[in-house]
Amino acid sequence: MSIKRIEVYTVDLPYLQPFTISLGTSTSSTDVVVKVFDDEGRVGWGEASPARRIIGESEHTIVAAMYTLAPAVIGEDPMDVERIEEKMDKAILGNNSAKFALETAVFDLKGKILGVKVRDLLGGYRDRVETDFTIGIKSPEEMAKEALRIIERGFRIIKLKVGTGVEEDVARVRAVRDAVGKDIRLRIDANQGWTVKEAMRALTEMDRYDLELAEQPVRWDDLEGMAVLTSMSPIPIMADESVHTPEDALRVVEMGAADYINIKLTKAGGLLKAKRIAAISEAAGIPNMIGCMMEGGVSITAGVHFAAATRNLVTTDLDSDISLREDFVEGGAGYENGYRIVPDGPGLGNLKVREEKLKLKAVFEEGGKVQAL
Ligand code: MG
Repeated sequence: MSIKRIEVYTVDLPYLQPFTISLGTSTSSTDVVVKVFDDEGRVGWGEASPARRIIGESEHTIVAAMYTLAPAVIGEDPMDVERIEEKMDKAILGNNSAKFALETAVFDLKGKILGVKVRDLLGGYRDRVETDFTIGIKSPEEMAKEALRIIERGFRIIKLKVGTGVEEDVARVRAVRDAVGKDIRLRIDANQGWTVKEAMRALTEMDRYDLELAEQPVRWDDLEGMAVLTSMSPIPIMADESVHTPEDALRVVEMGAADYINIKLTKAGGLLKAKRIAAISEAAGIPNMIGCMMEGGVSITAGVHFAAATRNLVTTDLDSDISLREDFVEGGAGYENGYRIVPDGPGLGNLKVREEKLKLKAVFEEGGKVQAL
């Protein structure tokens, strides 16, 4: 059994509405989609949603990285996912989003060959996870209105993007808490928007609105600041941008720089590395969340399999595909009253990629054959 052919595509994914975080506003994503074939014509799918401002990869760098990664993967046995991971890591440093896309496709293919779900390959723990729904930065009134619409759709956990200024951020949280009442779980994400002093002021004032956690209050590389806030803040601190890889997680643990760690498959470089972050976190007594970039149905479904297979995950933020005007996938991880559900079927499960939406960028075959478009 071996991997014979890899096709690389891009797909444009416009959002239902502009999405603003403290780092900027986006109206659409261009994701990279990969299709891996074995020698019997079976296929696996993977996807990477580039987060230029957070990870430093774009759709162009991800496609370019495939010229180095695909030749390292072709000819390998799809059963040997960890060996394939090693080959990719030895081929090129970093490029985690590209590695995630390829590794997901290999896991999907392996699950289909064996007739088991990716969830089962990764451990197996539960079949559904409750997700939050994220509201981008807007005026306090608009965020409160949107929160009410989200609750009507069945979500009971809301994440508010903040990080533009302490007073207006406190006003956003107050407006949403007043609108939704006390039974809805609220959390915030400042996306590095505050200084340590601003964060202390904001979190102290926000504590009266019953927030369960605050994501990445300060810059990703300010682990000292994260450590100060973790020891002083009345609201638990979650590291997101500060932790991409298992090595980052270890450093955050050593420095006491978070109460929670947000794992994202796109940052980590795939499911195996995400599992290692969960292992490091679990050993340190730090619970995990799984989050997402503006991902479509293939990536989100991979995230749901990971969440369903990882006991140290205590909360989930897998909602981006719900905010797309139109996904490129039918089926995959469904949602029902705020829960994401592992789909039936082997590999990533029953999902259909709408290939007519994809633009072919490159084809890699055995013997070093490359077709660039
Ligand atoms: Mg975040």
